[in-house]
Amino acid sequence: VSFVGDATGGGEFGAIERLAGLFGGLGPGEVGIGDDAALVAVGGGSVVVAADALVEGVHFDLSVLSLADVGWKALAVNLSDLAAMGCVGTRAVVTVSGLDADGVASLYSGISDASAAFGCPVVGGDLTGGPCVCVSVTVLGSGAVLPPPVLRSGARPGDLIWVTGALGAAAWALRRGVWSAALARPVPRILEGVAARELGATAMIDVSDGFAADLSHILDASGVGCSLTRLPIADGATMADAVGGGDDYELIICGPFDIGPGLSNRGLAAIPIGSVVGDPTVRMLDGAPLGREGWTHF
Ligand SMILES: [Mg+2]
Repeated sequence: VSFVGDATGGGEFGAIERLAGLFGGLGPGEVGIGDDAALVAVGGGSVVVAADALVEGVHFDLSVLSLADVGWKALAVNLSDLAAMGCVGTRAVVTVSGLDADGVASLYSGISDASAAFGCPVVGGDLTGGPCVCVSVTVLGSGAVLPPPVLRSGARPGDLIWVTGALGAAAWALRRGVWSAALARPVPRILEGVAARELGATAMIDVSDGFAADLSHILDASGVGCSLTRLPIADGATMADAVGGGDDYELIICGPFDIGPGLSNRGLAAIPIGSVVGDPTVRMLDGAPLGREGWTHF
């Protein structure tokens, strides 16, 4: 669950921490602000819920992406947040501002394609006027699964770390201002996330802001460090694209050794990149300190 708002003090992540302090009242087992999705008790069961908005001029440029691309991406990135909990999004609500009827139809052609591809129908939302194009999506999925949804906070010393694919392709396209499938039509790693949860993943996150920033969220929440040997870099992309570019929507998975072979046996990609260490001040990639680079839009 991410928040976008006023830029004073600490950026988006500082703002999220302050907002998290405003709300109490969560029951046992519920998860509120600060993970990829919330886990809430509803009617005797539990539901995972995530929301993310894409804003013209901030998250996309309509000279590069079509409105259909933006629609696809808006649903896909939300499903990616649920995948990062090991959960499947099954219903969505969508609020759109700043488009006329033709624009809404174009946007919704992409939303409906993603909805069909990932089995997540839109069940409501809103259409409003506005000064720029904004698409805000909320996705819901069942949390009633065992083992429970995977949080950012469970990584343990000795865990291995994997990513589900090469990094940097979207950043490469963004830097050049060119269309690419990686940038326009990301595929949420739903099967990988669910399988990793079933195989005992201890912590997961999807790479949206940038690998280093997103891995840092796991390390901070878990109170651990990391020792990374390598990163898989997409064709043509630079190391900087891969470490800090973002918009990859691959999963970072932490957990015991068996997860790698388990995912491989299911035909799913899991590329080992290093391990979790106990000292939270140790954050190394190929012998050099790993920063917290990530794309900041705040
Ligand atoms: Mg996320």
